[in-house]
Amino acid sequence: MSSSSNCTEHEAVTNFREYLRIPSVHPDVDYSKCVEFLLRQAQSLGLPSNIYYIVPGKPIIIITWIGQKPDLPSILLNSHMDVVPVYPEKWTYEPFSAHKDDDGNIYARGAQDMKCVGIQYLETIRKYLRDKLVFNRTIHVSFVPDEEIGGTFGMKKFVKTPEFSALNIGFALDEGLASPDDSYALYYGERTLWQTVIKCTGTPGHGSLLHENTAGEKLRFIIDKFMNWRECEKLRLKNGNLGPGDITSINLTILEGGCQINVVPPELTVCFDVRLAIEVDPNVMESIIQQWCREAGEGVTLEFKEKNARIQPTKLNDENPYWIAFKDQCDKMNINLKTSIFPGATDSRYIREIGIPAIGFSPMNNTPILLHDHNEFLNEKIFLKGLDIYYNLIKSLASV
Ligand code: ZN
Repeated sequence: MSSSSNCTEHEAVTNFREYLRIPSVHPDVDYSKCVEFLLRQAQSLGLPSNIYYIVPGKPIIIITWIGQKPDLPSILLNSHMDVVPVYPEKWTYEPFSAHKDDDGNIYARGAQDMKCVGIQYLETIRKYLRDKLVFNRTIHVSFVPDEEIGGTFGMKKFVKTPEFSALNIGFALDEGLASPDDSYALYYGERTLWQTVIKCTGTPGHGSLLHENTAGEKLRFIIDKFMNWRECEKLRLKNGNLGPGDITSINLTILEGGCQINVVPPELTVCFDVRLAIEVDPNVMESIIQQWCREAGEGVTLEFKEKNARIQPTKLNDENPYWIAFKDQCDKMNINLKTSIFPGATDSRYIREIGIPAIGFSPMNNTPILLHDHNEFLNEKIFLKGLDIYYNLIKSLASV
């Protein structure tokens, strides 16, 4: 038996479940059903919408509620439409069925990351319109593609267009993470992503001889340096009062080289996924790694597959009036906010990169963190409580 009868269900929950049933899943996402659904939502709100196809097949949808003082910088409420793949056999319920169990848990890929937030933005505006509220600032609700694969054809490109500039955004809300306890997680910055590729070349030859200057010896030197660095960061995480976003993470992710077990190879390659903590100067770190490469021996080179620039975190102080408004409302609602640096990467980085303050916040407390995991779910009570939270927060942000 399931309590999924629609006659008693909150309209916002019904919309949420309908959105979840659209399988906007990687790879090769078909966004057409999302577009159709979201345009219908805009229509039901009586709000204008625009679709931008900066890259074919990668729609960006903006639903706009014009404020009383449209010249003021606007508020952007951002979410992404895409979701990560699933292993259906590991799920209790079909991952695109949005099954609701007797406890009100709604199971679907995207339930936490982040179709919940997209619908909450729209349903909050629906409530304002019903309550006949008006605010000074214009609110833009954006739905973007491809966040889960780095936003290259989504937000990364969009922020550089005149269409984006024309939105005149003063402040943005984007995704955060669920919190397993009573508190709510808020993210004000992200670490600097590096994907490093280190090639070690050396003397090739027969596997029976002890050659000098081999790729293997150099590779070992490099791996030791990175792994020692990793050990230090692990200790910092263990001993300090730090979260996973506050330290630098280093992981060996790819090893390549060699063709046969009795042949000493001329080249071996090692790749590390590195996320630099915000207090680390990338230039200084790069010169340290270059120094390691020289010490390892000749023919050791550093390349970057991905080398993001350091992006200034959003200020959580008196200089940021949006933060003051946000924090005041949270205090009024007795919300225990835990502020930190996001451990992964989201589209917020592109927004911050062009100087717009952005906060990552998904109002989900008392919820296990299940993004990208099997059996991702969100309880409908938590979802509806999130609506109340946004109701107060967005009102306050649009009135700054
Ligand atoms: Zn996400």
